[in-house]
Amino acid sequence: MTVHGIDLGTTNSVIARTDPDGRPEVLAGMTGDEIVPSVVLFAGAGEHVVGEGARRQARLDPDHVCTLVKRRMGDSEWRFLAHGKSWSAPAVSALILGGLTADAAFATGEPVTSAVITVPAYFGDEERRATTLAGVYAGLDVRAVLSEPIAAALSYGFGRLDGAIDINKNDGHETVLVYDLGGGTFDATVIELADRRITVLAVDGDHQLGGADFDERIALHLAREFCAQNPDAEDPLDDSVGAQALVLAAERAKRELSDAESTTVVVAHDGVRASIPLTRAQFEDMTSGLLERTLRLTAACLDAAAGRGVSTVDHVLLVGGSSRMPMVARALRERLDLAPRLHDPDLAVARGAALYGAKVELERLVTDDLITRGRLRDGAPLEDADTRDLTDSCRRVADATGMTVDRVRRSVEIRVDTVVSRGFGVLAVNDMVGALENSWLVHRNDRLPIKVRRSFGTMRTDQDQINLAVVEQQGMDASPRPEDSKLLVAGHIGPIPPGYEAGTEVQVTFEMGFDGVLHVTAFHVGAGLPLSLTAETGATLSQAEVARERRQIQRSRRRDE
Ligand code: AMP
Repeated sequence: MTVHGIDLGTTNSVIARTDPDGRPEVLAGMTGDEIVPSVVLFAGAGEHVVGEGARRQARLDPDHVCTLVKRRMGDSEWRFLAHGKSWSAPAVSALILGGLTADAAFATGEPVTSAVITVPAYFGDEERRATTLAGVYAGLDVRAVLSEPIAAALSYGFGRLDGAIDINKNDGHETVLVYDLGGGTFDATVIELADRRITVLAVDGDHQLGGADFDERIALHLAREFCAQNPDAEDPLDDSVGAQALVLAAERAKRELSDAESTTVVVAHDGVRASIPLTRAQFEDMTSGLLERTLRLTAACLDAAAGRGVSTVDHVLLVGGSSRMPMVARALRERLDLAPRLHDPDLAVARGAALYGAKVELERLVTDDLITRGRLRDGAPLEDADTRDLTDSCRRVADATGMTVDRVRRSVEIRVDTVVSRGFGVLAVNDMVGALENSWLVHRNDRLPIKVRRSFGTMRTDQDQINLAVVEQQGMDASPRPEDSKLLVAGHIGPIPPGYEAGTEVQVTFEMGFDGVLHVTAFHVGAGLPLSLTAETGATLSQAEVARERRQIQRSRRRDE
């Protein structure tokens, strides 16, 4: 079975798989485009358009076009309203996924049933859950949610990792900074590549910072200039059609300024036209604050890596379409003394996801084979297998799949170690100040997987439950103030059996696997009882809600434009 790799981007998405030789290949749909705009047009009740067709329509029918939905992932309140129906962010994303999988099926003649979907490294727990949910809505078995910089590093370093390319530097270690400035998100990640191991040392980023913000600055400038030239005309930003047209023109101008020193934008609105010249220098000036933010985050990420003993980086990979802006490489060179190079900025993430998809599938085949033969306990990790058993199993899988034993073995042995992108904690009363504060159990850049335990005491005799609020860090710093964190789970732990004094110990355990998804469990020490957590999170939906959303998605017909 092929596990596809999907880069579900803020502005563009890409789907890939590996070919029979294990090389990643990007799949294009009927239009021949490998890059599909992450745009959905709700063309009518029960009918939608995905991709370039929807993007083109954005100008004509802006109220029914949904863009940048990735920025809404994890916001359980957000809905897009169109033709009397409301769509959550995972539901809109599912329509984009549906477009991509239909394209891939068209290209290969094989249905897409399972996938690895990428997310920014800086995505928190809810955003990751929302991404998985989008996959489920699209009818996919989501085999993993993989951080984009890890995917980019895999696509860059797979040959190095699997031994096909020698890393001669630093005793076979190579450190890579991935600077990923996409359409809507920014990630800085320091990764170490070593023999069959890829280790994320530090992450930083901002998922409200990307190419779209640069477009917006240009659009504001264009609107001001238009109004200055035509004082009697309506401001294009006061009209949704005019504003959409302006943003599209701004994006085009931005791209042109990556190649040329100047361009001219024609803005036609309210029956009049204005020709507005724009130079690269002007553009760089009006967006310098945005670039500065990426540099600060990059520097913070390098500092965090230095704290882990990595003070130099061997390679700087620029990924994400916005890293094509010449000022990005220049600033990294001049300000941070780095030597960046563009690395397949549009397709690297999808390619890396496909490589990872192939790896998880081979791992599954080998694991199942060992379990069936009684050579591995059900549920045990593959590392527990005996070396000779593992070799035999890799040979059988190689025979069955037509790959070489070496390839299966190397792919299975590659390890990905990563860190937490944000802190997690609980809201607790600080006795010193008598107020509720964030009490952090897990800190940003702690290594995954993580298991942290904290004990709570009951306040009263015969207390039957403990209220718990799990919070996630929002800003750069792990602040104690509740307003600086996001409430992830509010609920109670219980039932605590009667007959216990005040101060009875209840242990709460936070566990997070490589997928970055948090699991909270509790245990009553005196009674030796596991307790359940009855919780509500924005990302938790009932089976009925999931079924309802899926029905709405399945009923909406995809129209090709
Ligand atoms: P991605 O999410 O990686 O597909 O990146 C998409 C973003 O890259 C969008 O904001 C595009 O406007 C931007 N982009 C693509 N090509 C260029 C270019 N040549 N110069 C500047 N920005 C670009």
